[in-house]
Amino acid sequence: MSLTVTGSINVDHVIRLPQFPRPGETLTGSDYRIVPGGKGANQAVAAVRAGAKTRMVACVGDDAMAGALLDGFAKDGINISAIDTINDVNTGVALIQVNESGENTIALAPGANAALTPEQLQRHISALHCEQLLLQLEIPLPTNLAAARQAKEQGARIILNPAPAQSLPDELLALVDMITPNETEAERLTGIAVADNAGADAAANALHARGIATVIITLGARGVWLSEHGHGRLIPGFTVQAIDTTAAGDTFNGALVAALQQQQALVPAIRFAQAAAAISVTRIGAQTSIPYKADIEAMLE
Ligand code: ADP
Repeated sequence: MSLTVTGSINVDHVIRLPQFPRPGETLTGSDYRIVPGGKGANQAVAAVRAGAKTRMVACVGDDAMAGALLDGFAKDGINISAIDTINDVNTGVALIQVNESGENTIALAPGANAALTPEQLQRHISALHCEQLLLQLEIPLPTNLAAARQAKEQGARIILNPAPAQSLPDELLALVDMITPNETEAERLTGIAVADNAGADAAANALHARGIATVIITLGARGVWLSEHGHGRLIPGFTVQAIDTTAAGDTFNGALVAALQQQQALVPAIRFAQAAAAISVTRIGAQTSIPYKADIEAMLE
């Protein structure tokens, strides 16, 4: 039985520039890289590297980038049989400019990610035995809703990483068993600022009130606020020298669900995910920074 991750697949084109070009201006940059990304893909990679049998349900376009991405997923061991190719649509693309201060601008063309339909999700999920379904918010909301409904009917546990930040309908939240917002996302969902433990507790209770049994608010270097049925506490993270926090949240989510899939109890699963995310922030990049199970276990020793 495998873990199912539904979500976005992107190719990030990253170019470093002395500063951002103004409208009409051409600036020469340096250090151009093409990097696989997208929250869905990052979380699937984190899950499979953390040792879970992982299947991804997603869409790519019929362009040259898609083949390289799918080869990369297959090499990592992700089951790609439910990744569909759509004609006349681009694979999701992010054009990222990074200036000398490390700030970025991002232009996104979601392409195939926006074309993932509710029917497609229902078809794939009904054909699978889905034990756990991990969702984020980079595909259309009706598609996520259809996926959650179908998986719930099969008795699956639904885990939602509500990123990027947006408010969500009760209809979706009512289907979710476990939610993993960061501070900004928790505030967007509840209207409650998560500035300290009291704020985290209040935001978690607001999410419980909307029908979610387990709330895990990630607090960056501080760790996570875990609240189960209204009982909350801080689980501190690992202290590391962070150099690039890209994909910390994605690594946390993939590793958390992977640990649960491997029958770990919730608190050890959170520790495992925190170790994975702590390793990822000591490395540069998104999927390049995501660790394997052996590295995570070594960190936990
Ligand atoms: P996001 O990347 O979605 O904003 P967070 O910043 O909350 O999410 O990070 C997710 C998890 O990654 C945290 O709960 C923590 O376990 C780990 N993490 C993030 N930043 C650091 C850091 N500087 N040092 C150690 N662990 C970190």
